[in-house]
Amino acid sequence: MHTLEIIDLHASIQGVEILKGVNLTWKTGEIHAVMGLNGAGKSTLAAVLMGNPRYEVTKGDILWDGESILDWEVDERSRKGLFLAMQYPSEIPGVTTADFLRAALNARQPEGKSISVMKFLKKLDEKLAILDMKEEMAERYLNEGFSGGEKKRNEILQMLMLDPTFAILDEIDSGLDVDALKVVAKGVNAMRSPEFGALLVTHYRRLLDYIEPDVVHIMLDGKIIQTGGMELVDQLERDGYSTWKEEDEA
Ligand code: ADP
Ligand code: MG
Ligand code: MG
Repeated sequence: MHTLEIIDLHASIQGVEILKGVNLTWKTGEIHAVMGLNGAGKSTLAAVLMGNPRYEVTKGDILWDGESILDWEVDERSRKGLFLAMQYPSEIPGVTTADFLRAALNARQPEGKSISVMKFLKKLDEKLAILDMKEEMAERYLNEGFSGGEKKRNEILQMLMLDPTFAILDEIDSGLDVDALKVVAKGVNAMRSPEFGALLVTHYRRLLDYIEPDVVHIMLDGKIIQTGGMELVDQLERDGYSTWKEEDEA
């Protein structure tokens, strides 16, 4: 089992404080949902967890099994087993999805070793099948000209191939029709194991009907203001964010 502990995390971008003391304990075997209004700081939290250098951590810590990872670069965090599916995946012309995945997998092999082409293709076929993706998708340039839904599927393909310990999925459900949503959920549910943890950032309950979270967090104005279970999602659906906003202002 592994633990990722976020302790009183404060982070700024261009001198503006966005995260104002986030606390969250995340263990493998658990799926967490982080819900909150636009601008609450969800994508910022995702970016800071991944080590995006545009953000400055001004206070607090992120501990991986008790060890601070704040000094680790993005690629070190990635090789350690942290994965981020971005809200807006970028297009990388000239690099196919397959090339990208092979390079990423090879970077995870012991020094001087690489994954065999046969083994790689077998794994790729297996994962493409889970996601109902055509083989030729992997031969296209990464995200270039992909539809919104294809980009999201492609993020999940990367997750399945890289087999991370902790995966952050930032609004993986946005812009998906129900069929695509089900496919994405199938991919995430296929990863469920005592060795894997997911953090689903979402606005909507819909995703959580297909991927049932163990823990639900409500984020408002740069902080997690409540942690609980699915009852929080029900409360949110019933009353919106108003209850929490009033508490926050009081
Ligand atoms: P969410 O993902 O919850 O919608 P974000 O993490 O994307 O929220 O954004 C949190 C807040 O950070 C927003 O209010 C946004 O306007 C602000 N923000 C993002 N980038 C910058 C920036 N470069 N300078 C100042 N504020 C920013
Ligand atoms: Mg947003
Ligand atoms: Mg966001």
